[in-house]
Amino acid sequence: MSPARIFRAPGRVNLIGEHTDYNLGFVLPIALNLATEVETNPGPDGLLLITSEHRQETRTFELATLVAARPQQHWSDYPVGVAKELLSLGFDLAPMHLTIRSTVPEGAGLSSSAALEVATALALLQGRELAPLDVARLCQRAESQYVGLPCGIMDQFVSVFGRLNAALLIDCQTLHAEPVELPSGAVIVAVNSMVKHQLGDSAYRTRVAECAQAAQALGVKTLREATLDAIGKTTMADKPRHRAWHIVTENDRVLRFVAAARAGDLHEMGELFIESHASMKADYEISCPEIDFLVETASGISGCYGARMTGGGFGGCTINLVDTASVPEFQVRVVAAYRQEFGITPDFYLCKPGDGACETAIPK
Ligand code: ADP
Ligand code: MG
Repeated sequence: MSPARIFRAPGRVNLIGEHTDYNLGFVLPIALNLATEVETNPGPDGLLLITSEHRQETRTFELATLVAARPQQHWSDYPVGVAKELLSLGFDLAPMHLTIRSTVPEGAGLSSSAALEVATALALLQGRELAPLDVARLCQRAESQYVGLPCGIMDQFVSVFGRLNAALLIDCQTLHAEPVELPSGAVIVAVNSMVKHQLGDSAYRTRVAECAQAAQALGVKTLREATLDAIGKTTMADKPRHRAWHIVTENDRVLRFVAAARAGDLHEMGELFIESHASMKADYEISCPEIDFLVETASGISGCYGARMTGGGFGGCTINLVDTASVPEFQVRVVAAYRQEFGITPDFYLCKPGDGACETAIPK
């Protein structure tokens, strides 16, 4: 194994299409400039060492017994899950020390988890060939099967395939993706509510189960194939009905948002953010008071076309479509209002579409 190398994978922000990926619908994420880097160095014989600089912690694993590792409810489950997937694909792993550094905030809905998985996969591959789609898929399996969160493919896909200056319209059924350029004159501003609700993961699982229940009642394989008409006519409990309603309307909003972006219609894009948020709040029930406050506040600020929560829910970030010239004023007003209401100072990220994962040069 060669001396130090660095592999980098970006976090992402999803513009629209929330919880549609595991229902095999449409999503429209961008890869961010915020990213996770994994530095690799040769390690002691027979061992895989994994250090998180952020956690200031190192875990040691024996390569010979790694296939039998069990999840520990610990951050190292993410890289270990990826290592196990590579082993089961037939790759052998050299003794190695992985050092993780990241600028993606954890648990903020910007997918620090996928950034970590994808950067780890490239790091462990050390340049050996594996199709990019297979990298995304094995990382999704690591998170859904080893870490235990039944996620869709979006986060890992965009971390691998992200495109500079373009969002990606991903059809999660065919895994076909096409770039969508965003109109000039406005930027996507993510506002971090700084709230991470612990119930997020269990609620996520419940939503996945409710969608499966709705699909079964509707007699379709996934909610991708459901229609509003059928939801209206089929007997099922209120919760699965509302979840299905969100998914079907959200898929439609993604396609309308893409058309609006291509037509340069910022007002329509903003309206769709607002509609999407209302649907996540009322039908999918994944918002929370802090997020609703940020969305309402932003929607009332001139120069902001619209706002919505992004990511899995129950906290994390909102995204806001804001006139470029209005960004400083927008920031000042959001900070003042949020501090006054909740006593919390939010973080801001200007979201510019960046490239997907790759090896980077070692800084001199
Ligand atoms: P999100 O993907 O929205 O940031 P998740 O809950 O899916 O939130 O993933 C966050 C988890 O990923 C963290 O709790 C931690 O276990 C792991 N993680 C992400 N980045 C790092 C890092 N730099 N060091 C250690 N663990 C990390
Ligand atoms: Mg995640």
